[in-house]
Amino acid sequence: MSTPSGSNEALTEAVLRALLAIAPELKTGSWDPADQIAGLDVAEGRVLLALSAKPEQAESLEPAREAIETAIAAVPGVASAQVILTAEREAEPPPQAPRIGQHPTGGKIELPEVGLVVAVASGKGGVGKSTTTANLAMAMAAKGLAVGVLDADIYGPSIPTLFGCEGAKPAAADGKMVPVMAHGVKLISIGFLLPPDAPVIWRGPMVAGAIEQLFRDVAWGKLDVLLVDLPPGTGDAQLTMAQKAPLSGAVVVSTPQDLALIDARRAIAMFRKVDVPVFGIVENMSYYECPNCGHQEHIFAHGGAEKAAREMEAPFLGAIPLTLAIREASDAGTPIVAAQPDSPQAKAYVAIAEAVLYGSE
Ligand code: ADP
Repeated sequence: MSTPSGSNEALTEAVLRALLAIAPELKTGSWDPADQIAGLDVAEGRVLLALSAKPEQAESLEPAREAIETAIAAVPGVASAQVILTAEREAEPPPQAPRIGQHPTGGKIELPEVGLVVAVASGKGGVGKSTTTANLAMAMAAKGLAVGVLDADIYGPSIPTLFGCEGAKPAAADGKMVPVMAHGVKLISIGFLLPPDAPVIWRGPMVAGAIEQLFRDVAWGKLDVLLVDLPPGTGDAQLTMAQKAPLSGAVVVSTPQDLALIDARRAIAMFRKVDVPVFGIVENMSYYECPNCGHQEHIFAHGGAEKAAREMEAPFLGAIPLTLAIREASDAGTPIVAAQPDSPQAKAYVAIAEAVLYGSE
């Protein structure tokens, strides 16, 4: 939430008044928008309002959501308004609106209909970056947010496998690619554009061209969050993407070993060099959890990423255990957050998703 200032308070009040004025005509059954405020963030004329609704109501309430957005946008002093419907969750505090309504513009690829754009990166391959991306996407979608995943991992696009839609081909409409929908998330993968098993050597200009195409030539529609699965490493390709993509921030995934952490530090330094805020570090394969007895074995130096995060003055977003269940769910094409939402692993991903959306302090 932004720090309230005098003008923000006045604008917040005006926005609430606009909502109360329009609420009676939009009320349906037991759903009254005036009673459903889950979060309201007003900063520099940008308004983000989250209203609670049951997931099954999302479609029928879409016209009401749009009407409220229009009404708020018309309030004097409001530069942009975004209204989102978030799923109600019992016995937990209501979800706040995501911390940032808009990604940076100016010299970047423009995505006017997309709110938060988050890169998921790693200093080296095989640390679980794509698995983390897929599960964060599912955790965010479960909150009622409209989520997209852009798989920009030119060296090994694995998002289609993780979402069980390998071989899918995005349809074309009005000269744009239509994202493939899987588990309620919109997906575009560089893997959809490449012939299978074709060895591709990517050079700087090709990377820039491909990344532009993946962002710009896709009919994303309205998205609250777009997660970008970056290729591992900190070479030219990654730097080009970090510069070109309109990133709100980056999440760096690392395993706890020293060697992986050296690369994670490089990734943090790369984002800082191009002025992309580092939302934080995730420690994946933090410890081994025995599927039979639940015993935890700290086979790597558990806690290394948290220490590195402190040293780099980056937030620590949380730890994910190394478990068979995560790998099996991934291989089966349903990320564990969707396959076993009540498992401790799924809850660990949900906590990290919340830290990404609302800040970790
Ligand atoms: P990256 O995107 O960093 O290359 P992936 O997400 O593709 O890594 O993960 C590499 C392998 O590790 C995959 O087989 C994946 O299923 C597995 N994996 C990732 N995270 C975990 C975890 N926490 N527990 C068990 N297996 C995992």
